[in-house]
Amino acid sequence: MQFKDIEGQRVLINRLTEIIDSGRVSHAQMFLGPTASGSLALAIAYAQYLNCTDRRHYPEGSELRADSCGECPNCRKYRQLFHPDLHLVFPSAATNTVKGDSLSADSFQEEFREFLNKYNQCGTEDQWYEMLNVANKQGFIRERDAANIVKTLALKSYEGGYKVLIIWLAERMNLSAANELLKTLEEPSPGTLILLVAESRDKMLSTIISRVQTVVVPNTISGFSEEKKAAFATMFVSWMRLLFKLNMQTLSAWVDQTHTLGREQQKQFLQYSQEAIRACFLKTAAGITLPGELAFGDEKFDNFFPAMITTRNVEKMNDAITDAIYAIERNAYAKITFMQLSFTMSKLIKNR
Ligand SMILES: [Zn+2]
Repeated sequence: MQFKDIEGQRVLINRLTEIIDSGRVSHAQMFLGPTASGSLALAIAYAQYLNCTDRRHYPEGSELRADSCGECPNCRKYRQLFHPDLHLVFPSAATNTVKGDSLSADSFQEEFREFLNKYNQCGTEDQWYEMLNVANKQGFIRERDAANIVKTLALKSYEGGYKVLIIWLAERMNLSAANELLKTLEEPSPGTLILLVAESRDKMLSTIISRVQTVVVPNTISGFSEEKKAAFATMFVSWMRLLFKLNMQTLSAWVDQTHTLGREQQKQFLQYSQEAIRACFLKTAAGITLPGELAFGDEKFDNFFPAMITTRNVEKMNDAITDAIYAIERNAYAKITFMQLSFTMSKLIKNR
């Protein structure tokens, strides 16, 4: 995976390549964010860039400041996900053919590569279990996986570069696996990079979190279809417009309409809004327009709205939307959540 093949995330990617170029790579890191936003793809591209022997750097002002070459022997092996110094660990569950004591990620390497290729390294946990035909089971990363990791990392790297271990959905480590890994996370052998990829910090042991450097991977709307983006853009424009002149009648009508969407759509709309606000802020604060991310399909709105997002309100808006997403995840009553969020957002826009 090269960075250029990942949608969005340009700001984060440029920071990551800068860190690698400066040689300040931390040996145990956690990429934290939803799988659909490309957290695993980013971890793999990061490891590939680290091991690339012919890194490319682009002129100032380019969308990406640097990327791996895609052609050197290391890049070619990474592209096939067959590099002797790249180790992938992930949750597994008993299947018809693999069960009991032999159950570990090692038994499903081939299926996992197939899964990564099928979903362009952005597949979800559910899609993974579907692929294993265990859709009704919960997968785990077990003590046997941890023992395999410790054994693998004790060996020398084959190709002389960085030995990389990527643990996808690290929150699925059971307690004994997590405990077994603590020492390795604290003192990885030299030339080793451990990347945890996780969606939720809440489910991780604090002893693990404290031993890794966290890289937050923001939600992206790039995973949405064009049709969905256009629908969310229309909703976003009418929502923001009515926040300027808060009129209970129009607000109630908008909230009623949002209420009928269903939880998953409501969450996605809020993620869209968060991303849209971040893009507006980048435009006003830094003059950066990310390609395709600032067209709401309404020229008048496209022109005036970004200036409403400033250093004074951007963080608070982001936090308010995050709180609303959590509330919806915890089954809060959507009408009240959207009503309260609208009052907060209205105040923040007025006090810009
Ligand atoms: Zn290369």
